[in-house]
Amino acid sequence: MLSMRDSLAAWKPGRLRVLVVGAGISGLTLSALLRRQGIDPLVIERAANFEAAGYSIGLYPIGSRVLHGLGVFDDFMRVSVDYDSYQLHSGTGEPIKSYDMRGIFDRIGPFRGLRRAEMLEVLRTALGDLPIYFEQAPAAIAQDPGGVAVTFGDGAQAHFDLVVGADGIHSWTRQQVLAPEEYAKFDTGWGAWVLWTTEPLAAPGETREYWGAGSFLGIYPVRDALMLCVGGPKAAISDTSLGAPVDRFRRIFQGMDAHLVDVVASLLVADANPFFWDLHDYRSRRWSAGRVVLCGDAAAAFLPTAGIGASMAMNAAASLADELSRSDATHLTLALDAYVARQKARTEKAQTLSRELGKFMLVENRPLAWARDHLAKMYTTEQFARDTLKLMESEVS
Ligand SMILES: Cc1cc2nc3c(=O)[nH]c(=O)nc-3n(C[C@H](O)[C@H](O)[C@H](O)COP(=O)(O)OP(=O)(O)OC[C@H]3O[C@@H](n4cnc5c(N)ncnc54)[C@H](O)[C@@H]3O)c2cc1C
Repeated sequence: MLSMRDSLAAWKPGRLRVLVVGAGISGLTLSALLRRQGIDPLVIERAANFEAAGYSIGLYPIGSRVLHGLGVFDDFMRVSVDYDSYQLHSGTGEPIKSYDMRGIFDRIGPFRGLRRAEMLEVLRTALGDLPIYFEQAPAAIAQDPGGVAVTFGDGAQAHFDLVVGADGIHSWTRQQVLAPEEYAKFDTGWGAWVLWTTEPLAAPGETREYWGAGSFLGIYPVRDALMLCVGGPKAAISDTSLGAPVDRFRRIFQGMDAHLVDVVASLLVADANPFFWDLHDYRSRRWSAGRVVLCGDAAAAFLPTAGIGASMAMNAAASLADELSRSDATHLTLALDAYVARQKARTEKAQTLSRELGKFMLVENRPLAWARDHLAKMYTTEQFARDTLKLMESEVS
């Protein structure tokens, strides 16, 4: 690992001195776009590599289309799989509805799934030879009229025109520049284990979800495996007094399709400490403070219910890069205001959509779950996708 002093000595910033905190979806998208404008940001990442968060993501064209301009759309297509069909089942495994999404995706572009690490590798290709400094994080930031002074973990210091907090749902940057009352957590009270299998639990091109009363199971393919999200109310799923994860799972998913239960149970026996996903989001009242700006989940984090968080993060990164392309170092805060004006309201609309969908999906009460399942049966594919489509169509340039 390079020391931060060595990293800074090797850094050639170009037109603006930009620090990007976080080499995730939004940080890498932004960095690759800035490169094309003659700005080489300093990109730092707290994790040791891309493998740290081993989960899959689904990407809508509202996010993935930025890859065309970065010259890596074909790479993305090569490592991702179609999510053309969505199969909805009840908590006990009976089919509720099959949605064929191909007509819609023919119109707007594909919705595709891949491992997050694969997406980050695609974005790394778009960075060219711009380095990512892993295992690095800022320790303190202080603003002055001319920019932002940053102190790093090893005591090294540098001065930047702009600091971008692209550091995800639990953003350190957000905590530095916003007061606690300026951002709020929305907690569903649910959580999910993330597991992987190669058992053929879904056909190619298909995602599957099982919505129960107090239970949720989602199956999302990537090229070589399927990611399973096995969820329930946190009180039930994370209560260690109810036994090992596999015992808790069997209790929550009583009555579910026996084969599926056996597959999940065997995964929970093999991995007694699976990745636990606490289903909450964050909304920030402000996205920028002086010359520090938030992007992606750091600005507005998403519940997984609409599968749109990563797409919105890429979309926000593209808007920020665009506004920065029209700015010099002196007038940067105007560019940040323009970015916020473009993105904040529409991102919050998408966030609200995810929350509403969460209220529909994550239901504990049996009669309510029964009514929900009957309502879902009557939804056409167009109705089902209506809100997501509206979001795509509200795109501004
Ligand atoms: C299990 C799971 C499944 C998901 N599925 C989907 C899906 O299907 N579709 C979808 O659209 N979204 C999905 N999401 C959400 C999606 O991953 C996020 O919305 C998206 O990654 C946001 O991008 P980001 O760049 O803001 O944050 P991230 O991609 O999370 O990147 C933030 C980066 O910052 C780094 N970091 C954090 N703190 C610091 C620090 N102090 N210093 C330096 N680096 C730091 C982190 O290590 C991380 O690499 C899922 C999330 C999870 C957990």
